[in-house]
Amino acid sequence: MSQYDYDLFVIGGGSGGVRSARLAGGLGKRVAIAEEYRLGGTCVIRGCVPKKLMVYASQYPEHFEDAAGYGWTVGEARFDWPTFLAAKDREIARLEGLYRKGLEGAGVEIIESRAEITGPNSVRLVRNGKEVTAERIVIAVGGTPNPHAALPGYEYCISSNEAFHLDSLPRSILIAGGGYIAVEFANIFHGLGVETTLIYRGAEILSRFDLDMRRGLHEAMVEKGIRIICQDHIASVSKSAAGNLEVDTLNGTRLVVEQVMLALGRDPNTSGLGLEAAGVKVDERGAIIVDDYSRTNVSSIFALGDVTDRVQLTPVAIHEAMCFIESEFRGKPTKPDHDLIATAVFSQPEIGTVGLSEEAASRKYQELEVYRAQFRPMKATLSGRTEKMIMKLIVNAADRKVVGAHVLGHDAGEMAQLLGITLKAGCTKDDFDRTMAVHPTAAEELVTMYAPSYRIRNGERV
Ligand code: FAD
Repeated sequence: MSQYDYDLFVIGGGSGGVRSARLAGGLGKRVAIAEEYRLGGTCVIRGCVPKKLMVYASQYPEHFEDAAGYGWTVGEARFDWPTFLAAKDREIARLEGLYRKGLEGAGVEIIESRAEITGPNSVRLVRNGKEVTAERIVIAVGGTPNPHAALPGYEYCISSNEAFHLDSLPRSILIAGGGYIAVEFANIFHGLGVETTLIYRGAEILSRFDLDMRRGLHEAMVEKGIRIICQDHIASVSKSAAGNLEVDTLNGTRLVVEQVMLALGRDPNTSGLGLEAAGVKVDERGAIIVDDYSRTNVSSIFALGDVTDRVQLTPVAIHEAMCFIESEFRGKPTKPDHDLIATAVFSQPEIGTVGLSEEAASRKYQELEVYRAQFRPMKATLSGRTEKMIMKLIVNAADRKVVGAHVLGHDAGEMAQLLGITLKAGCTKDDFDRTMAVHPTAAEELVTMYAPSYRIRNGERV
């Protein structure tokens, strides 16, 4: 009989925690998982899933407009925020139930409480003060929106957490940030009829993405009517007598809006977690430092998902959990593979991407072939929509390997998933060339760009 209460204690019932607990439970281990809020974590409760439902809701006005070109007359359309919220919340509750069922089915004990570490093998349950012990502890507590507490008036601002449950839709919103969460919410609010401004301190939204995608999306958003202010930042927020928020920017612009949303990065949920008690090391941002196998510096404690600040995406947290189980409970040491992660920005239009941007590839390889197509998708012909799609393949000239694939436009996220397989398999441009097109689709452009649009040699376009 083990000297511990559990073989595995998981702190945090989000993407990474639930997968770790469920798999270990399925192997017959004695497992408990503590969750302080709701099972499913950020992704299910206030991240990917509700956000995508909001994206869908916000796309309808364009669908209604496009329908006219195809002969449809659509009557007066109205959007009811409370109806949408209730439907969204029902779906989230359903998913939460499925997470619970999965854990129960694997024999995992679910503890609805905050948990804090008290030592290398012990955890205190805040709900009842009880201390329990475990042979291994997994920390999968995720992250939380940075409140930007140094900003005067930050207390008037919301984060993505609140955006999912506003009492009513504001007439106008200012969103600060240039990352994917800021950009996605700017499109969501605009689509739902909110006058939307995005403010970002950098020169162009979505740093680290391919510049063509960033510029193409920026232009498309402006064309739709979203105001984008780059190279500026909020200096202060105050509340007017009329109840509006008055925002002054560093460059001296004054904006009056009903709501301000800060999307300025996320902090690891490690404060007050008791890491010092066990001697677990964190970096300067509070993220838990782990090795290639998600091991912390304390041999019985592991950390995975957003709290380790590697790649903050749900499939990555899940993958790290699966590798942890292989390594620790199946005797097959397995490192998470963070190379070539396909990803999407659910902006409108979407970005789907995998591999290196042109800029990053040109720093890494001596010579690149860049295949680029910009075109109006077929659906836009009759609808009259002017939005363009951009597709781009970045090829290392030396071995013809496709090292980056980027799509801006409808269904780009769906395409990115499949492009991810081709890049992971190490496909060359010749493999793309000998792949038959699926006609008529927008994606066929990916296999019919036969001649390079330009080359990059030693970082210079030629
Ligand atoms: P989380 O899912 O954050 O789970 C951590 C859990 O731990 C939470 O439930 C929390 O309540 C709990 N917890 C914290 N501290 C304690 C404690 N001491 N005791 C008990 N419980 C605790 N990723 C994508 O791949 N695609 C997307 O489209 C996408 N969209 C996103 C949109 C938004 C608005 C946000 C915020 C995130 C989005 N993400 C997306 C990122 C994704 O949600 C995260 O990468 C993922 O949820 C990380 O999983 P995790 O297990 O590390 O942590």
